[in-house]
Amino acid sequence: MIKFSPIVLKKTIMEIEKLFEENQKWAINTKKINPEYFSAVENHQNPKILWIGCSDSRVPAETLLNLNAGDLFVHRNVANLVIHTDLNCLSVVQYAIDVLNVEHIIICGHTNCGGVKSALTDEDYGLINNWLLHIKDIRFQYSSLLGQVSSENRTLILGRLNVAEQVYNLGRCSPVINAWKNGKNLSIHGWMYNLANGMLEDMGVCASSRETLEISYRSAMSKLISEVEQEYKQNIEYDENNSSNEE
Ligand SMILES: [Zn+2]
Repeated sequence: MIKFSPIVLKKTIMEIEKLFEENQKWAINTKKINPEYFSAVENHQNPKILWIGCSDSRVPAETLLNLNAGDLFVHRNVANLVIHTDLNCLSVVQYAIDVLNVEHIIICGHTNCGGVKSALTDEDYGLINNWLLHIKDIRFQYSSLLGQVSSENRTLILGRLNVAEQVYNLGRCSPVINAWKNGKNLSIHGWMYNLANGMLEDMGVCASSRETLEISYRSAMSKLISEVEQEYKQNIEYDENNSSNEE
């Protein structure tokens, strides 16, 4: 049995009490501003968007989209992955499509993602290493491309590759395939959130059918790959020019 010292225990109780205090303040203030707020959200939700994002505390979905409670159905995990055997994520996707009738699913990665960064190392982080193996698979798949990227930019580029791959995964999972087969109005999107300025970027991978998924995924990937290769070429030329000027 774990024993807490009285000081640690007191600190823990105070931290938890503080959360309840803040909750009370929020609830009272929210009702003061909008007396109908809680009665409006109590019995139903009607979100048109499912957000699949990273668990990272710096990427609060409703806040950065300036939305309210009831506007967004949310699933988060480390590094915003859609794994075909993850019943948690797939159940959220299926419920969002079949019951809530969402029209958009957004997979949003972000800059400086700890999950992506960790997948670029061979450190042992414990159990989560198994989860990160999904990103490591992408790392190995694009290892020659990532080899052309400076170490400072590698997390960003792998993060972008990851978003495109996750949209592709999502577009091939059964709830989405069935929705498209049944003629449902459903689009899936891949975005990146920039922690440095709060801005969202559309990665250009967007699909509303199995066919558009293939086209969009391939075009977004080739655009990303050619941008990396172009930059690599320019850096090599810059280095060559500099070294010939020094001779
Ligand atoms: Zn993250």
